[in-house]
Amino acid sequence: MAASVPQQVIAFLRNNEPAAFCDDCIQKKVGLKNRRQVAPVTLTLSLFPNEFHRAEGDCSGCSSHVAKLVIKVAQVSLPVQAG
Ligand SMILES: [Zn+2]
Repeated sequence: MAASVPQQVIAFLRNNEPAAFCDDCIQKKVGLKNRRQVAPVTLTLSLFPNEFHRAEGDCSGCSSHVAKLVIKVAQVSLPVQAG
């Protein structure tokens, strides 16, 4: 049985920890047909900051350095850098 989209996204982020990726790259690397499948997942994961960290920054999958929203597995052992 195929894994659900959230399961695939979570597995991808964990396999690539601690790299951060934008929705576009997650879509391509996980192999999803539509970016609309990714956005609700990353948005939901961002609601669990102890497990996933979503913020503007460099994407590990894009060559450009344009700041965009990226998500990665939260580094629980490290203190959160405030502002
Ligand atoms: Zn990217």
